[in-house]
Amino acid sequence: MDHSIAPKVGFVSLGCPKALVDSERIITRLRAEGYELTRKQADADLVIVNTCGFLDSAKAESLDAIGNALKDTGKVIVTGCMGAEPQAIKDRYPDVLGITGPQQYESVMDAVHRALPPKHDPFLDLVPPEGVKLTPRHYAYLKISEGCNNRCSFCIIPRLRGDLVSRPAAEVLREAEKLVAAGVKELLVISQDTSAYGVDVKYAASRWRDRDVRAKFIDLASALGELGVWVRLHYVYPYPHVDEVIPLMAERKVLPYLDIPFQHAAPDVLKRMKRPAAQEKTLDRIRTWREICPDLTLRSTFIVGFPGETEQDFEFLLQWLDEAALDRVGCFKYEPVAGAASNGTAPEVPQEIKEERWHRFMQRQQKISAQRLRKKIGSRQQVIIDEIGPTVAKGRSMADAPEIDGAVYVASRRPLRIGEIATVKIDRAEAYDLHGTTAGF
Ligand code: SF4
Repeated sequence: MDHSIAPKVGFVSLGCPKALVDSERIITRLRAEGYELTRKQADADLVIVNTCGFLDSAKAESLDAIGNALKDTGKVIVTGCMGAEPQAIKDRYPDVLGITGPQQYESVMDAVHRALPPKHDPFLDLVPPEGVKLTPRHYAYLKISEGCNNRCSFCIIPRLRGDLVSRPAAEVLREAEKLVAAGVKELLVISQDTSAYGVDVKYAASRWRDRDVRAKFIDLASALGELGVWVRLHYVYPYPHVDEVIPLMAERKVLPYLDIPFQHAAPDVLKRMKRPAAQEKTLDRIRTWREICPDLTLRSTFIVGFPGETEQDFEFLLQWLDEAALDRVGCFKYEPVAGAASNGTAPEVPQEIKEERWHRFMQRQQKISAQRLRKKIGSRQQVIIDEIGPTVAKGRSMADAPEIDGAVYVASRRPLRIGEIATVKIDRAEAYDLHGTTAGF
């Protein structure tokens, strides 16, 4: 096949890991149909922009990306979360060739075919069986469902992506098997609400290997745990049934890591946020989890300055942080999202108070995180190697998810390989990262 005449497509992928999975699927299809992907936008015959519409700042970034792509190539197709509100895009860029919402792979491909017909018959064997991944080869995101049944008042994702639609367990497991066969060493399970997996299909079972596996959080986690790779669970809400997964973590069937976006702790704020599982006695649960699995890592995100958040609510949150002693925490200042139910329901928190609370929050949490990291000095950790540098390699322990958590810098007398899991003795800790030496040599 002569690549020089293959039509060239540029791709801009914005937004969260869920959007990244969509991008990977579209790119896989493009490659399968003989399109060439180019990193240089100026060389492309057409650019696809996968947008994010979660916050107004993300929308602005998406609109800028569309503008730049139009300037460079004149042919642009828009997909992703912002595509669910096409008018905002059409108003600003009437020349955009096609606009589709998230997950509408077929419509994206139709728009590509119209604008830039494929020059070749499909060469399906151009694509490796596991598809094309934008993430490095040794870890991959595994999307188990789309949409969300919750209605958090600050969030418009259910409006953009619809209610929860879970993939059959067997389909998820087969994708996971293919990824593992292709060399993936770590699977990152994602969705909007991982603990709600299968509620929409009444936990229907499907056939995988020689047995039926229910589309249920615990069943899926335990089946994924049989694949012999790291399995990391993201976006889990503390529903009571989440307790069942902790023993699997203690046995290392899945990583002892839970990413739970708590967003707040004050009961009144949580109620107005309409958060799922807000009524659960979370601190007691965390205590019990740690008794069962002492090295459990807890990561979370929070919002400060939600409309109506009082100084008392905020103090409650700081106290809660002290008691919860979470390992990794992100914090956002509340930003109103057009169309979100929380807008105008309570007095806005002035910008300077949001700033001030954010700094107080970060200071408080940094101390806690640093203290928890320091406790690891002298311990041995399994570390997956992400990058090889001239003097040290960069990796992550079981406590660190890619892109959002810290790193472990590893000195080694023997050469390390990307994707290898090495045993590392931790020598020192910084605010977010650890440094160590390969053990056993
Ligand atoms: S759980 Fe809440 S914040 Fe997350 S997608 Fe669903 S509605 Fe939005």
